[in-house]
Amino acid sequence: MTTTQATADLSKNPLLSPSWLPHFKAIQARDVEPAIRYILTKNQAELEDILKKNTQPTWTSLVQPLDELSEHLSQTWSPVSHLHAVLQSDELRDAYNASLPLITEYATLLMQHQGLFKAVQALAQSKDYEELDFAQKKSIEHALRDFRLAGVHLDAKKKEKFLELEKKLSQLSIKFSENLLDASQSWFMTISDKSQLAGLPESALELAQANAKQRGVEGWVLGLDYPSYSAAIKFLDNRELRQKLYEAYATRASDQGPDAGKWDNSTIMNETLACRHELAQLLDFKNYAELSLATKMAKEPQIVMNFLEELLKQCRPFAEKEMAELRQFIKSVKGPEEIASCDLSYYAEKLRQAKYNFSEEEIKPYFPITKVLPGLFALVNKVYGLIIKERPHVETWHPDVTFYDIYDEQHNYRGGFYIDLYARPKKREGAWMDECRKRRRLPDHNIQQPIAYLTCNFTPPLDNKPALLTHDEVLTLFHEFGHCLHHLLTKIDYPAVSGINGVPWDAVEFPSQIMELWFWEDEIIKMISGHYETGEPLPKKLHQQMLAAKNFQSGLHMIRQLEFALFDFRLHLEYQGTQVHFIQKIIGEVRTRTALLPVPAYNRFQHSFAHIFAGGYAAGYYSYAWADVLSCDAYEQFVEHGLLDRATGESFMQNILEKGGACEPLDAFVAFRGRKPEMRALLKQNGWIEK
Ligand code: ZN
Repeated sequence: MTTTQATADLSKNPLLSPSWLPHFKAIQARDVEPAIRYILTKNQAELEDILKKNTQPTWTSLVQPLDELSEHLSQTWSPVSHLHAVLQSDELRDAYNASLPLITEYATLLMQHQGLFKAVQALAQSKDYEELDFAQKKSIEHALRDFRLAGVHLDAKKKEKFLELEKKLSQLSIKFSENLLDASQSWFMTISDKSQLAGLPESALELAQANAKQRGVEGWVLGLDYPSYSAAIKFLDNRELRQKLYEAYATRASDQGPDAGKWDNSTIMNETLACRHELAQLLDFKNYAELSLATKMAKEPQIVMNFLEELLKQCRPFAEKEMAELRQFIKSVKGPEEIASCDLSYYAEKLRQAKYNFSEEEIKPYFPITKVLPGLFALVNKVYGLIIKERPHVETWHPDVTFYDIYDEQHNYRGGFYIDLYARPKKREGAWMDECRKRRRLPDHNIQQPIAYLTCNFTPPLDNKPALLTHDEVLTLFHEFGHCLHHLLTKIDYPAVSGINGVPWDAVEFPSQIMELWFWEDEIIKMISGHYETGEPLPKKLHQQMLAAKNFQSGLHMIRQLEFALFDFRLHLEYQGTQVHFIQKIIGEVRTRTALLPVPAYNRFQHSFAHIFAGGYAAGYYSYAWADVLSCDAYEQFVEHGLLDRATGESFMQNILEKGGACEPLDAFVAFRGRKPEMRALLKQNGWIEK
């Protein structure tokens, strides 16, 4: 390729002329790798240039131009990585896989760069440093920490090893997700006799029919995507089918089950643990758990273990009581003598209906998305004074996606977000918020406002009805919206600590989990519910039944969360690199304390535990419970002063949401609550102590 050709090609590459909002439709898989290579090469050259000029580094001469470099890369990569998650084609997968190692290498080499490290260190020791504000100082403090965590102090050979491990880890994580996605999408079961589907609510039947149509088969299709699976395992009367589904789901991407060995993640998981352990040891940590905590609110492994043990002690008696009640119920309805895992959700739903006399299906018509979303916006208007408006005609990646702008009470523009709500093929499962743009101060002193992606996998609208959400889906929406607010409301102008950046992982769920707590309240239900045909809000009786059922099996729910958290943490704390079947051994040991029913030997839940093998939660899954303590306790402040109290909302916004990662989360919490967090409110929310 001649230079002219390359330039000509690059000049037409839409990824190289980023605009404030990405042009998703113009993004072609073939443009990804050349664009990334170009930016990385350019950034490397410019970095050397910046360093040459910085004999006496200042914020403006060093940090600001460096931020520009990272921003250029992230503006190009963010829409690519987002499309890879929500609209994955084979070509895009290849382009993504070819580019990610380049970025990993670049990021690692940047943080291992002696010259750069010395320049930042010189800035930290300079007179100029004293003049900086708290957020700038925090950025520098984090940078110095991250240099160390990238091995800047290591000799050349060890640095190389570190890089090799980082690259390998990123490849392993990609492969883990690919296997999981392929395994989840390839297995399905076709039903031609409708009577086999007895028990399934109308909406699940419609979904099964739509899935069949999509796959070009007659009848109904039950698959492993979450909306399809979760409804079937809960409602399907046919135990044999439930058993089949459960086995397929619990063995995804493993050495067991109907697709045994086809997309087996076993080796990937073992290698991941080995690489992480080696990485931690290179940096002089005893294990990966210690390395993980170097950037978290909980400072030592013992603190995390004590926390999880304490919570286990609190919740286990309730979980046991709930399991005994379920057993009793199954007996009373002449259910199976030997309860199997595939019976748990099914009979739990039946018990819930018997006890509280309502089903999720009765509730759903009252939560059409057309009511929930405006209601949620009205809630944050009351609490934070925010005004949210849809912006039509924004280019997106799918017709289901909409874009909204957020303004504050003074009508200042604060940011925008895309919202992509429904499950569809080629879209990663789960719900999440991700950054499209960070808030930052531009070289011309203007502010670049932040943009977020809010992604869910709800049951899509069927039959010309609006999407009707289960209460769990509403909670998920509230949760992810909380992350959005954290990202978008930041007033910090430095990208390293603005929004969710620089927030310790175990505090990052605090603003999202607190949002969920409003859902249950009378005042809020009135705002967010309205029957999709009549507009009538959720009837009082149904709401009371739903409230009574709020803590139904809360002990069992928590003990399962603790199982995940303990498994994850011990996995990274106790790994020595020599044990065989280590993963299975740890999950087995944890289950002796958390599982109240024998788990089938074929169960390979861990093979789909993407949070820790393909997400950022390694030795950090405890974060959910940890942040729950913060959110429940902070929510009490609203309970004490009024759920929609604007002053309390303002204080939460100023002390937590606007501060991003520029403040220590404990200090921010104390500034809002007036004292350190206590576990009591969490126990109360779960119904384990009196209200
Ligand atoms: Zn979250």
